[in-house]
Amino acid sequence: MFKLPILTSRTFSSSQLIVLTAVFITLFANMAFFSNVAQVYPLSLKNGIFLASLGGVSILSQVFLYSLLCHRLTIRPVLVFFLLLSSLTGYFMDQYGVVIDDVMIDNIVKTDPAEVQDLLNMKLASYVLFLGVLPSFVVLSLKLNFDSEKRELISRFKLVFMSFVVLLVTTLPLSAQYASFLREHKPLRYYFNPGYTVYSAAKFIAPTLQNPSLPFKEIGKNAKIPKTDINRELVIMVVGATARADHFSLNGYKRQTNPLLAREKIINFPDFWACDTSTAASLPCMFSKQTRKQFDRRLANSTDNLLDVLSRAGVNVLWRDNNSSSKGVADRVAYESFKSPKTNPVCDIECRDVGMLATLQGYIDKKSNGDIFIVLHQLGNHGPAYYERYPQAFRKFTPTCDTNELSACSSKELINSYDNAILYTDYFLSQVIKLLKQNENSFETVMFYASDHGESLGENGVYLHGLPYFIAPDAQKHVPAVMWFGKSSDSERLKNIETKRLTRLSHDNIFSTVLGLFEINTDVYDSKLDILDPAKEE
Ligand SMILES: [Zn+2]
Repeated sequence: MFKLPILTSRTFSSSQLIVLTAVFITLFANMAFFSNVAQVYPLSLKNGIFLASLGGVSILSQVFLYSLLCHRLTIRPVLVFFLLLSSLTGYFMDQYGVVIDDVMIDNIVKTDPAEVQDLLNMKLASYVLFLGVLPSFVVLSLKLNFDSEKRELISRFKLVFMSFVVLLVTTLPLSAQYASFLREHKPLRYYFNPGYTVYSAAKFIAPTLQNPSLPFKEIGKNAKIPKTDINRELVIMVVGATARADHFSLNGYKRQTNPLLAREKIINFPDFWACDTSTAASLPCMFSKQTRKQFDRRLANSTDNLLDVLSRAGVNVLWRDNNSSSKGVADRVAYESFKSPKTNPVCDIECRDVGMLATLQGYIDKKSNGDIFIVLHQLGNHGPAYYERYPQAFRKFTPTCDTNELSACSSKELINSYDNAILYTDYFLSQVIKLLKQNENSFETVMFYASDHGESLGENGVYLHGLPYFIAPDAQKHVPAVMWFGKSSDSERLKNIETKRLTRLSHDNIFSTVLGLFEINTDVYDSKLDILDPAKEE
């Protein structure tokens, strides 16, 4: 049988191995934690001692956790698991400034292989190798000495007790720092590795364990299109990905990133805000009747959303997806994936968003009755491999960052790649409008575009998205949103739009605005949230 070489002839007790692992993870996989703490507590002798004391808390909390899980048979796999987990978490926190909370775990669970592939690079490999694999190798190969179960238990108990005492004695003089750490600087604890990941995983799993299946709730059961509405509506909702408002020239960005949209009669919403900072949370929220403040993902997933209400009212609903999935939103309506060349005719290094339009006219022609609502879920600006999000022809801003290892690029290169991807979205939206124009004689046509969330591009060392809402920078929350109306659309609805479009709006407005576009009568419609409600005066 394969046997690992023994690294040293010394024999270790299980308690020693637990402490060594905790010290290693604290020292090497908690860089993000300590650098964030150091930013809040400027360097001084007292703060230096506080930082060291936090290191002690980190070690103690890990010793406590591992002591609960480690027994004769489990000690090696448990420690290996936490070493690997911490190396991964450490990488994403150090490199991208993200934190692993329950929403992020939800995103990870719902990710697909292409998204994972986007994240793989040498730097990640070296993190995992040096902070995960090599120390795991040591854990697996060290000689371990086990006492009887009872003695092990006593020694473990002693270990936890002693560390508590030591910690208490050393932290008491620092109570002022601890008070502010716990009360005023709550976000710092998000960077505690692997403690916060374990907490988040528990928070993610707990509701499912407590109540595995929420009963499904139907809403808007009375939804109906009035008989007086004889015109057919064709609405295409484009769910953008990872586009931030301040990189749209329509919103005043110094670069021309919307050359094609600028030629159309666009209604731009410069003050539009996302419901959350990640796809898995934003998508269900965008299509839910719940507003951001009320939003509960589990409840939303087991309640009818906008698509369900539309489809009950008789609207033909279709979701086409070139991103990871609809995150459960389109589970009960027609859904087509465009991630593979089998369905998407426009694929080079990856399948392009415009491919979703290829057979769309055919779909529209086949529906000889009723209104049509089509959602196109873009790959858009999904990071960190922005350079893959556009064909060569859109490589207008150069030099670009042609790697997913963001630290290997200058911020200028990174932004160039990101902006080229925005340019490609501009083209995609212009193609959507082109398709709608072809249908203007048979339909009242509308395009509604809104991004799911924004993106950090290295401001204060933060990249990507997914930070908890209240600490996330505006770059992750302020999103581009535009509407386009065909010439036969109801002009009464656009009466007050010039003043309304400038007000603060958000994903909360999507549900009732779309119901309003189809003139649907239902108790779940809220005219106050309908951006186009002609009665609403600001
Ligand atoms: Zn997203």
